[in-house]
Amino acid sequence: MSKIVGIDLGTTNSLVGVMDAGFPVLIADADGRRLTPSVVHFPGAGQAPLVGAAAKRVRGLKPRETVSSIKRFMGRRGSELSQEEMIVGYPIAGQGNEPVRVELPGRAWSPEEISAEVLKKLKADVERSLGESVTRAVITVPAYFNDAQRNATKEAGRLAGLEVARIVNEPTAAALAYGLDRLKEKSKIAVYDLGGGTFDISILELNEGVFQVLATNGNTRLGGDDIDAALTDELARRLAADLKTNIDAALVARLHEEAENAKIRLSMETETRVEIPFAKGEQSFSTTVTREQLEILARPIVQRTRGHCLRSLSDAKLKPAELDDVILVGGQTRMPLVHTLVREIFGREPNTNANPDEAVALGATIQAGILEGGVQNMVLLDVTPLSLGIETFGGLMNVIIPRNTTIPTKAGELFTTAVDNQKSMKIQVLQGERELAKDNWSLGQFDLEFEPAPKGVPRVGVQFEIDANGILGVLARDVKTGHQKVVQLTSAVDVRDEDVEKMVAESVEHAFDDIAQRQWIETKRKSGDMLGATRKALAQVGALIVPAEVKEIESLMHAVEQALESENVAELKVANAKLDEGTQALADLVMDLAMEAQLRKKGLLDEPAAPPDPVLKTDAIAPTGVEGSIPLKGE
Ligand code: AMP
Repeated sequence: MSKIVGIDLGTTNSLVGVMDAGFPVLIADADGRRLTPSVVHFPGAGQAPLVGAAAKRVRGLKPRETVSSIKRFMGRRGSELSQEEMIVGYPIAGQGNEPVRVELPGRAWSPEEISAEVLKKLKADVERSLGESVTRAVITVPAYFNDAQRNATKEAGRLAGLEVARIVNEPTAAALAYGLDRLKEKSKIAVYDLGGGTFDISILELNEGVFQVLATNGNTRLGGDDIDAALTDELARRLAADLKTNIDAALVARLHEEAENAKIRLSMETETRVEIPFAKGEQSFSTTVTREQLEILARPIVQRTRGHCLRSLSDAKLKPAELDDVILVGGQTRMPLVHTLVREIFGREPNTNANPDEAVALGATIQAGILEGGVQNMVLLDVTPLSLGIETFGGLMNVIIPRNTTIPTKAGELFTTAVDNQKSMKIQVLQGERELAKDNWSLGQFDLEFEPAPKGVPRVGVQFEIDANGILGVLARDVKTGHQKVVQLTSAVDVRDEDVEKMVAESVEHAFDDIAQRQWIETKRKSGDMLGATRKALAQVGALIVPAEVKEIESLMHAVEQALESENVAELKVANAKLDEGTQALADLVMDLAMEAQLRKKGLLDEPAAPPDPVLKTDAIAPTGVEGSIPLKGE
């Protein structure tokens, strides 16, 4: 009989997991992502729908053919929908007693059929990972879902080729993932779930291993999206004032994406920059957003969860102090402000032991394991005692699996080269909490060879996988050719407690110096990149600009070189910024010529007498032969 998989079919994102040797494991798709955006794009009649990240990417361009948040319409009829609920980017139909449908190119689709497309992708990802077919699933739904909505979810499973072995309430699944069924015989918990588009609060009672929902409340139109929208408005206001321009729909889409990214970064950082290159013609927009500014915008939105929490407590006839635990679920609960407000509402520290994005899917998977008969008593999950990562250019530690991640686990990241014509990348596997590679422990190293190419072009995916026994497998793959190496390293979990304590204590002790060193190395790398690119550009097009400008650029370059010698990070940042600003026109010129050369190559421009393709053929900086890699994230 095939394995049963656990699925969190979410409004914003979906995940799938499977029990492996007694542990719930979430499955990554072919791109190494465990979160699949619940977005489906319909390119047109006869063409297969696009699902997940690929669909999300085209949503801004083709909103009418791209369906997101379809979960809101599952099992619902036209008469049940408010005007507000009907406002989505794609056309919704269904009057009175008719079931809701989505009018897409070619034909109308039911919400179940659209959800089935998401489920089919998850099913295919698991099958690819397991190498066997899967026909049964546990799927989670919000506790407030009625029978029609639950049946629609089952039907979506059936359409995707999955028999739904059980429908489980999301808060129950989250509680299972937190291991709360192992707590006291009788306990009461609140599950606070703030996702992208919806907020749910559930009060559960655990009684002899069975969870009972005492009360639920929430808002199907409240979540991270509202915070993104508020920040987008603020950015649009700043951009309009800065560049004296009107904001069109395409610009709003770009601002929106950057707003969400900035919001996510501000959960870790206290301030961040938002950059919109070429926002108005050749003018770019750049602004700083602080966590405090974000919190001013987000507070009224998050505050709206308060009333729902109080109502659910009152429905369950409980005072906050009578709860045994408050657990956080949903990506938006990673925001520090949400922790603060939950603490205020419930008068206690929320439980943040699990990954809030993954708790529901892990719980669904555990439930699948219970149905399979594999899980009798919950297995105690082990965690990584120290962070694992690889060394990147400049001797920095790049964490791939953070400390305290539940194992088994799998995570990966893409890297590129830091110098031209690099032929291989050294994968130095590290364990520890320090910023510099040399201060962490080396678990082993190997080289991955690939075809030489200009820096920044090669793509090497590095994936770490820790199995249930704590064995670390490291895979490095050249994305272009598929050439890969896999190396098994000994236990990544077996570290003496004293050593872990020492490493963590040292990382705290040296935190200030470590961060300063990282900043210096990263800023220095940026200087190196900019100096190299400027020299190259001057060699290509220097003759086309006025000598005074060349001189000015040379003096800015000299300033960077001097700042490099000063070893003063602030000075170097200023010199970098000035060089960046002072070379805008030069960069535009190189771009224009490159564009022209491309057009000519394609026969779209007549005039020949071509200067050679300026970007690709002039090699102004010699390869240094230094081997190193730089992470692609955030680039
Ligand atoms: P979910 O519906 O649970 O997948 O949650 C998705 C929402 O969580 C989106 O609005 C994301 O922008 C938000 N989110 C994800 N990670 C973070 C983070 N680290 N900080 C703040 N919000 C986040």
